[in-house]
Amino acid sequence: MMDDTISAIATALGVGSIGVIRVSGPDSLAIVRRFFAGREQPGRENARKLLYGHILDGKGQVVDEVLAVYMPGPHSYTGEDVCEIQCHGGREALQEILRLTFQAGARPAEPGEFTKRAFLNGRLDLAEAESVMDIINARSRQALAAANRGHEGGLSRQVKALRKTLRDLVVQLEACIDYPEDDIEEVTYDRTVSTLEEGKKAVETLVRRGTAGRILREGLRTAIVGRPNVGKSSLLNSLLQADRAIVSNIPGTTRDIIEEQMTIGGIPLVLTDTAGLRDTSDLVEKIGVERSRAALEDAQLALVVLDGSQPLDPEDRQLLESLRDRKKLILVNKADLPLALDVEGLRKTYGEKDVLVLSVKEGKGLEQVEQWLRDFVYGEGSDSESSSMTQNARQQNLLEKALQSLEDALAGARQHLPYDCLTIDLTQALHDLGEITGEDVPDEIIDEIFAQFCVGK
Ligand code: GDP
Ligand code: ZN
Repeated sequence: MMDDTISAIATALGVGSIGVIRVSGPDSLAIVRRFFAGREQPGRENARKLLYGHILDGKGQVVDEVLAVYMPGPHSYTGEDVCEIQCHGGREALQEILRLTFQAGARPAEPGEFTKRAFLNGRLDLAEAESVMDIINARSRQALAAANRGHEGGLSRQVKALRKTLRDLVVQLEACIDYPEDDIEEVTYDRTVSTLEEGKKAVETLVRRGTAGRILREGLRTAIVGRPNVGKSSLLNSLLQADRAIVSNIPGTTRDIIEEQMTIGGIPLVLTDTAGLRDTSDLVEKIGVERSRAALEDAQLALVVLDGSQPLDPEDRQLLESLRDRKKLILVNKADLPLALDVEGLRKTYGEKDVLVLSVKEGKGLEQVEQWLRDFVYGEGSDSESSSMTQNARQQNLLEKALQSLEDALAGARQHLPYDCLTIDLTQALHDLGEITGEDVPDEIIDEIFAQFCVGK
């Protein structure tokens, strides 16, 4: 338990209709009682009840009309005694009340310190604490849902369960190191392999969910490419009309390109080099092949539009060739006209699922595009709601490291390497997973994580 009491404005600075000042620590109740005046003073008997009253400054002048609430530890956000004051959201009132808490003995909270105390007091683990930040930063409904799943301990729960399984495995293998008995060796390796296969699958799923969560937060970087007049602008317009969700125009910071954000089929896309795409004056053509190439390099997905009423021409072939190793969706447009393009041939070369035939003019095949995008992000057949989770770069990185160690251990077990070779990889995986939940994490990293929070959280 920390022995000092901290306070900060918990709501955003600026003018809002209400503002909250949070005081946490052993003296929080005494501090607030110093300047709160109401019919009832906050205390044990009215814990968790909102009390109406006024804040009085040193001279007995009314600073603001407020509601105060006392939440005794350990059942509070931080796990300590917490007092919160809800006042009018103006800057003056908030700052003045904050100053009064300092005068009464609180010290200014550092960024993230409330949440850090919650972590240190075991109210939430590290992954859950980090998802508090993600909830605050969520910019779409899906991102919020993904962050909430993190907050509810989805990631922590699974990581903890996995760690227990791996720890048990290490214990078993260590027992076998001390008492090698040839007749049980086969069984031990078989059991190890099957445990590791399951563990690997579980981590792979977490990594995939994290990737989906990241796309929901940051958008899927997409380049739309194709010869002039194949229907790129028309396609975008139709997709946009279906969703009516242009988010914003962001002038790109690098390479002076324009990025456009839009949500299609619930998936936020960041389309690069689409300046003027929605204008009738066709800028894409003017941007030229080179610019498109540059945008492509950076893209996670290419939408390749072809004109189905014409056979593939050398330019199309060159484009497809240059995208050979890239993730792409091939869209054969103008299906309302007689088909002159060898769709089956394309499907043989580029994959059955990744070639769609549509007519933007008649609005046919657009849902297929949306479904394809959802499958691309969430994995086929998974329902989007539960298939993404907010994992930050730190967590994702640790999951990927753990996955690598599990793969090494699995390969070792299949080759019947000595037990202690396997436990080295397993111990590494245990360590990486433990860093996610904070069970096994250096203090510097904890400080670094909470320093990214804002003051008041
Ligand atoms: P972009 O140059 O690739 O952006 O192509 P546009 O979207 O500007 O379209 C070029 C021309 O093709 C326009 O006259 C569109 O009306 C037409 N077009 C677009 N989609 C279709 C389609 O599905 N069927 C037909 N018949 N024409 C289309
Ligand atoms: Zn165009």
